[in-house]
Amino acid sequence: MNIVDLRSDTVTKPTPEMREAMAHAEVGDDVYGEDPNVNMLQEAAADKMGKEAGLFVPSGTMGNLIAVLVHCQRGDEAIMGDKGHTFSFEAGGISALGGVFPHTLPNQADGTLRIDDILGAIRPDDVHHPVSKLVILENTQNRCGGVVLSKEYSNEVAKLAHHHDMKLHVDGARIFNASVALNINVKEFVKEADSVTFCLSKGLCAPVGSVLCGSREFIGKARRMRKMLGGGMRQAGVLAAAGLVALDSMVDRLAEDHRRASELAQGLGKLTGIHFEMGLPQTNMVFPSLRAEVNGNAAEIVKKLATEGVKVSAVAERRLRLVTHAWVDDAAVQQTLNAFKKVLA
Ligand SMILES: *Cc1c(COP(=O)(O)O)cnc(C)c1O
Repeated sequence: MNIVDLRSDTVTKPTPEMREAMAHAEVGDDVYGEDPNVNMLQEAAADKMGKEAGLFVPSGTMGNLIAVLVHCQRGDEAIMGDKGHTFSFEAGGISALGGVFPHTLPNQADGTLRIDDILGAIRPDDVHHPVSKLVILENTQNRCGGVVLSKEYSNEVAKLAHHHDMKLHVDGARIFNASVALNINVKEFVKEADSVTFCLSKGLCAPVGSVLCGSREFIGKARRMRKMLGGGMRQAGVLAAAGLVALDSMVDRLAEDHRRASELAQGLGKLTGIHFEMGLPQTNMVFPSLRAEVNGNAAEIVKKLATEGVKVSAVAERRLRLVTHAWVDDAAVQQTLNAFKKVLA
């Protein structure tokens, strides 16, 4: 039986072209700044994001952590969504390692934080309060459905932050999905942002790594912070070489993942047991909910689907998540729909 793995786009493996590039990558010691592939990747990434400089980091989690630690001092406050990755899935690192105080605001169904909520959260200058230093947005917003935040919204939040002497960091783990979905140059989403992290290791299929981008001064501080966290890597060009292939050849094809996510949603929508309380996919994530008449909760359905060779995640008592990626082809979509039909029958 073919296994279809829709748990996440992080399960993607390096393409043959990446393995080829990795095998032949010229390398140097990147802590000395001497790895040619790392340097090329950082330049290419910064160029794509419209920023002065980039820093190759082992993970998106470390990229976000470094950004927060550079933008904030101990005791400072960072405003972020309560459904955000930094709040939910980064092991509390900003507090444990940076002493940074998270101020969460409700993520709206469209992934945004209300402008009024942000304004209300910014602290007045008063010794009783922590100092508001940073706003974090996530684009695409994972737990809200892989939804896209518009460039107008992101840039408005940046201007608001700057008006209050604060910074904006964009967790752009899947910002290329946003760019492809709206057919807008990725730069437009982060034009006014002070920093952005994006992942090479998700839909772009590279084995490891993310790039943090920002001003030259910011990246200088970020490089020291990466070293402090133990993230300074030596002959990392073997990984960066795959990242370069990812940036060059894996971005435009994300449209296929979005098409297949839509096809999955359309097919699942025809089953009486399924509805889409979170809306239909805008990018590569499908969040079907189980209607009351379906016997068994999401975790039980996950187990049954696995016996049909289809791996998905349970994200709530009666909700599943399916993420499309380069290793999910049209036949895999069909296999998935057939498995759901059988399991829900
Ligand atoms: C995956 C992800 C990250 C972190 O990336 P890792 O490389 O897994 O640490 C950050 N933000 C979002 C929205 C993500 O989906």
